[in-house]
Amino acid sequence: CGIVAYVGQQEALPIIIKGLRRLEYRGYDSAGVALLDEQGLSVYKKKGKVSELEKFLETNLNLTSKIGIGHTRWATHGEPNDVNAHPHYSSSEHLAIIHNGIIENYEVLKKDLEKKGYHFQSDTDTEVFIKFIEDIYVNNDCSLEEALRLALHKVVGAYAIVLINKDEPDTLIAARKGSPLVIGVGEDEYFLASDATPIIEYTNKVVYLDDYEIAVIRDNKLQVKTIENVQTNPYINQLELEL
Ligand code: GLU
Repeated sequence: CGIVAYVGQQEALPIIIKGLRRLEYRGYDSAGVALLDEQGLSVYKKKGKVSELEKFLETNLNLTSKIGIGHTRWATHGEPNDVNAHPHYSSSEHLAIIHNGIIENYEVLKKDLEKKGYHFQSDTDTEVFIKFIEDIYVNNDCSLEEALRLALHKVVGAYAIVLINKDEPDTLIAARKGSPLVIGVGEDEYFLASDATPIIEYTNKVVYLDDYEIAVIRDNKLQVKTIENVQTNPYINQLELEL
């Protein structure tokens, strides 16, 4: 299972696909991407190899996106199929999430959301996660990162996640607990990945997100906060490049 995300001046899709290939060694059963451009937010996902996703994308190719998220899934909740593959949309389809890990209390959260009228397309814990965040976001007058922060206080389990928001086309929001997440800091561009292998060909500056931290990349700046809302100063590691 793996995560790759990009925001910057380059075309996001080739960087994401290449990055997902570099993470293939981690094992997975399906792959998907969400891309955001003037046309809106689009999700493409397929059971099978990254090459299947690429074949599927050939007819839908969207090379104008400068921001996107990508995922390879190792199913824990819900069989491997196209619908259960990530990214998952919120109900409004304004938000999309990629997630590595397990939300242990998803059944309780799902029941509550169903009572409120939410419907679920997939059998995943991840779709519950994004709709739980969405519910807080739409019912409070707050930013998406604040909604996420509040949600993370209620969620039990492990996660590395990245969120993309149709209404904020220069923003990626990430968080982790128990699953790895690395941020690559480039010139006017940022990368997110499960490990540094998809990042090192673009930059040797990386930040290792800690458990219970939320990273907001907005308007070409990185800000990291704990889920207690304390701002932290992200330490930028200089990786030795293998030449
Ligand atoms: N629990 C999530 C799912 O089954 C994420 C699995 C993963 O880490 O890839 O969809």
